[in-house]
Amino acid sequence: MRRFLSFNDFFREYFNGKTVKLSLDGGFTCPNRDGLISNRGCIFCTDKGSGEFAGDRKNSLNEQIDSQKSLLKNKWNAENYIAYFQNFTNTYGDLSYIKSIYNEVINRKDIKGISIATRCDCLDKETIKYLKEISNKKFLWLELGMQTTNENTIKLINRGYSHEVFDQKIEELKDNNILFLLHVIFGLPYEDENDFKNTIDYVKRVYPFGVKFHNLYICKNTDIYIMYKKEKFKLIPLDEYIKTVIYAIENMPRNTVIHRITGDPDKKSLYEPKWCLDKLSVISKIDKTLKDRNVPVKTKEDIKIAADYWKQ
Ligand code: SF4
Repeated sequence: MRRFLSFNDFFREYFNGKTVKLSLDGGFTCPNRDGLISNRGCIFCTDKGSGEFAGDRKNSLNEQIDSQKSLLKNKWNAENYIAYFQNFTNTYGDLSYIKSIYNEVINRKDIKGISIATRCDCLDKETIKYLKEISNKKFLWLELGMQTTNENTIKLINRGYSHEVFDQKIEELKDNNILFLLHVIFGLPYEDENDFKNTIDYVKRVYPFGVKFHNLYICKNTDIYIMYKKEKFKLIPLDEYIKTVIYAIENMPRNTVIHRITGDPDKKSLYEPKWCLDKLSVISKIDKTLKDRNVPVKTKEDIKIAADYWKQ
């Protein structure tokens, strides 16, 4: 039992058993990389479209699912799987292509849920209508790369659309009862504690199904690596990151599921900061700080209330 509502505890209750995510590659690209908006991408995006651990797009989705399941079989004794479309923008393209991808996984009994990483500027009305149809058959949520609410930072990181557009789409998703998860990065260039708090306040206000927190890290094959070498802006130190995550956890809405509290960079391409490679140590420091602050453990009852709250 954790002192925050974790992915593991939530889905163990929701699906009545261990649940793991399978990272799949649906063969999409991204308008911020293919030239429609820009061909550079968000400045931290790698050539893998921010999905370093996804399956191989040369294989069919059924092959990717089966191979990931067999890889994870010995690690987790899982009964339930989430098809996680992680890299690039997984609602960008013709609706017929989008449908062909998701229709392939909807009918698999072992796939209990679908998680779709995408951008708010790639969700038109028809796509939302189709996502709504899927959510009537499978537990579904969208993963949205918000990162921050600061418009200057949004421009600096080349996200490609404003917070205003983001916020309008959030309202539309809520009106359509489509669950969403927000990605948040602490320590973006030139941001300070006030920016982190503004972003956390926004998350609190919109009450997402889920949230993922991580620190900014610099991978070698990115634009931010070039920028960092030139400008040497401050990277968030571990103690400041922990303080910020604790503040975020303490301010999350009661039923928001916290899917991630640390970054997960690819070891080979990480440049700085090295502390985020030791994920277990970061997690244990966060857990210890929560305990020292007497943040209560989430009880079975708390988790059950959240599972009922997000019932689809
Ligand atoms: S939206 Fe995602 S895939 Fe597209 S450039 Fe940004 S991080 Fe990369």
